[in-house]
Amino acid sequence: MPQIQPAQKIGKIYQNPIPTSQKLEGSVLKLLWQTFTSKNERTPVQPLGPFHTDASIYNTPPASGLRITWMGHSSLLIEIDGKRILTDPVWGPRASFASFAGPKRFFPAPLALAHLPVLDAIILSHDHYDHLDYPTIKQLASGNVPIVCSLGVGPIIEKWGVSKSRITEMDWGNTTPIDNLTLTATPARHFSGRGLHNRNQTLWSSWVIKGSSHNIFFGADSGWFPGFKDIGDAYGPFDLTMLEIGAYGDGWPNIHMGPDHATNAHLALRGTVMMPIHWGTFNLALHPWREPVERFLKFAEQKKITGFLPRPGLPTEVVGSHNSEWWV
Ligand SMILES: [Zn+2]
Repeated sequence: MPQIQPAQKIGKIYQNPIPTSQKLEGSVLKLLWQTFTSKNERTPVQPLGPFHTDASIYNTPPASGLRITWMGHSSLLIEIDGKRILTDPVWGPRASFASFAGPKRFFPAPLALAHLPVLDAIILSHDHYDHLDYPTIKQLASGNVPIVCSLGVGPIIEKWGVSKSRITEMDWGNTTPIDNLTLTATPARHFSGRGLHNRNQTLWSSWVIKGSSHNIFFGADSGWFPGFKDIGDAYGPFDLTMLEIGAYGDGWPNIHMGPDHATNAHLALRGTVMMPIHWGTFNLALHPWREPVERFLKFAEQKKITGFLPRPGLPTEVVGSHNSEWWV
């Protein structure tokens, strides 16, 4: 089994698995010009939804053992082999440092946090605003669900009121049990930071979630890197991969994948079914908001990949191909 290397640090700065420029490629002026002159429908003109989760569904366990409720972006309620995991919960109205500015959710979260079923763990992949949301964590701070996060994210949520005893910080290659599940942090090619002065001082990870009969992969945010094959060799094959397809751009080719690279990552990971995430919820790039999924469908067809595209908020079992076409 190939070894997954722990994250390397130079001084306070975590390093990517392969060299990765953090600078915007191309001219900043050109990017600004494109931002203000773009005619793309980057945010939906027509309101989406409404999306509402009927929480009574959670009283009946999924027959297949694996059911996903997509709350938007990278927020997923995962029911796997009798356990419930919540990933990167962002219930707040904006993915931003400010409550009055920054990217707004395209639709409200389909189920109030207080109405979620009992959880077994929460995964926090990294500290960016569209994954680690202050109002959401503030609300979850009063509970007692274990929180598993990347190295360095623990102290941030402790400051927000989460007790240290609930937090498990993970390096790449670390594994922690949640009863009959095991959670493993695996490498990703990305970056971190919530302000101007703390870039890459906390770690970013992807995650392997292994239950008694299912094995799935939550990719969080990552650019393409050959390490997906190593993760697949070490921990695959996967019944389901959840991989980011949105927020790509010419100026930042290394830190997000987009649909072409994400479908390649799914194949390298040895995935069976692929669920595109990190799209359709926030305007974080210059592409039209539907473009990631439209391109995903083309690549999936070309590469013979089984797609899983549930309607936001609708608990949906993973039993092969599923295309809700909710965005059409
Ligand atoms: Zn993100």
